[in-house]
Amino acid sequence: MKIAQNTVVSVNYKLSDAQNNLIEDGAQPMVYLHGGYENTLPKIEEELDGKEVGYSSTIQIEPEDAFGDYDPSLLKVEERSRLPEPLEVGMQFEGVAEGSEDEPTIFTVTEIADDKVVLDGNHPLAGMALRFDLSVIDVRAATEEEIAHGHVHGAHGHHHGHDDMDDGEEGDHFRSQPLN
Ligand SMILES: [Zn+2]
Repeated sequence: MKIAQNTVVSVNYKLSDAQNNLIEDGAQPMVYLHGGYENTLPKIEEELDGKEVGYSSTIQIEPEDAFGDYDPSLLKVEERSRLPEPLEVGMQFEGVAEGSEDEPTIFTVTEIADDKVVLDGNHPLAGMALRFDLSVIDVRAATEEEIAHGHVHGAHGHHHGHDDMDDGEEGDHFRSQPLN
């Protein structure tokens, strides 16, 4: 079966930066619903569209097509007393960035001083060119329910009670992975 709109694609992947430093070894395959559901990066869908099981390739994706350029205005310094304890570098908090009233931003603690904390609202992969080694291991037709929800169910997919309607972000398998 060829990868097309409304197929569920399983891909083994390895993610490196442009200098070939490993970022994520993809111990679990990425499983996503193909066809513009924003389950994965559009450039990955573009690369895999029309391909079949056994296809593999390496693609490099520039920051503007991945997680954007690094935005220094998303760095902020907070009073340590405003954040919960215990506090560690690498912890993440949801907050609202200045100038974007509705979209909550995930801030990562990047530095802790005595009474101040540096929070970075950039995606950990912002500003980086990403190199993906991709290898297609499974392609199947999506179920009607998966198409209606815009994400994959079942093994490696999205698990939720079906009364939960507001699950768009959680269905975003790749981006919701903790990246280090
Ligand atoms: Zn669902």
